[in-house]
Amino acid sequence: MSSADSVSRFKLKRTLETLASKEGRGTELISLYVPPDRRIHEVMTNLREEYGTASNIKSRVTRKNVQEAIEKVQQRLKLFKNPPPKGLVIFCGAIPYGAPGNEKMEIYTLEPPEKINVYFYRCDSHFHLEPLFDMMREKETYGVLVIDSNEAILATLRGQRMNVLKEFTSGIPGKHRAGGQSARRFERIREAAVNDYFKRVARHTNEMFSQITDLRGIILGGPGPTKYDFEEGEYLNYVLKQKIMATIDTSYVSERGVEEVVEKSQDLLKGVRYMEEKKIVQKFLYELGHETGLASYGETQVRKHLNAGLVDTLLLSEKLDRLHVLTKCKTCGDAEDALLPHSGLAKFEQELLSRQCRKCGNPTLAIESTQNLLDEFVEIAEKSSVNLQVISTGTEEGIMLLESFGGIAGILRYRPSS
Ligand SMILES: [Zn+2]
Repeated sequence: MSSADSVSRFKLKRTLETLASKEGRGTELISLYVPPDRRIHEVMTNLREEYGTASNIKSRVTRKNVQEAIEKVQQRLKLFKNPPPKGLVIFCGAIPYGAPGNEKMEIYTLEPPEKINVYFYRCDSHFHLEPLFDMMREKETYGVLVIDSNEAILATLRGQRMNVLKEFTSGIPGKHRAGGQSARRFERIREAAVNDYFKRVARHTNEMFSQITDLRGIILGGPGPTKYDFEEGEYLNYVLKQKIMATIDTSYVSERGVEEVVEKSQDLLKGVRYMEEKKIVQKFLYELGHETGLASYGETQVRKHLNAGLVDTLLLSEKLDRLHVLTKCKTCGDAEDALLPHSGLAKFEQELLSRQCRKCGNPTLAIESTQNLLDEFVEIAEKSSVNLQVISTGTEEGIMLLESFGGIAGILRYRPSS
């Protein structure tokens, strides 16, 4: 996965999780999905109609909130001449914070990772995020070919969803020759039939899989040795042959065979990303173990190296749970940083009330700002040309990154001078 992919996926996932946690007091949160070919003025017209419809809402507060949200979406849309290439998603609404009356009007504009096909406007008590979650799940396409000597089936797999492209029957005569036929002649006929069958399957496979621009890999399946014969022969084109990532034994061909492949390959597919993550962390561990001077870890050190432009690859643990809290003394203005887990904020705030300022001694410390450390580092990395990799805890290496290195590590471009 490229650095940009890893980051945009991570950011979108985070945004969706945040949005999923938001709930309106009434039916007043707006979700708007605009396909790329939809004209902005058409969307505006639709929103004017929705604004009119909203005037029928009985609750005064809900009515006001919905109409305000629609106005806000309209303002936001005015910034676009046309929707972006993959379309546009806007979420807007009054989010309650504490007691009634403390709602805050919030608006989020997203560019989806895949093209939006259907225009969608909804006003509900929550945001409609499912299409975006779907896009996240279905990012990668795998090709599946299940084959035996009688039949073959060609399918694609996106997330958990399979799509059958084509089915074939072999036309190969059975193993037992008819009476009166010579054994050699029978064998020749059979070989020619197998060759024809493989060629036919390969022609369609080459044609159909080559059209899939984001084809991540191909999985071959089937009962018996036919799949290996097919793989070893010169049937598939070179590019596709390189993409074969596994050969899986199945009990069936047909759709049931594809289902078997899907079932058996889930771990394998997860393993692909895990493999990438392992390699990245292992590279860091190599630099560290061989004392090349190119390994950097921990919040302070990595931040310093990032600011100096020394970091080539930045490794951040997806599970990094740290808040960067800045406190300031109201008397003398002295500022201090602290890192704490999210769950520790309330206690920290409580303790702050009775703490004295390290400079002037007054108990007048207050929290100036809090930021998620992970977000902060993602932001810093994006401003520079760092290869950022967000690492899960699905591997031993990923757990090690989190537990032994504070969830933050870097591989440097060159040795720092000091
Ligand atoms: Zn002070």
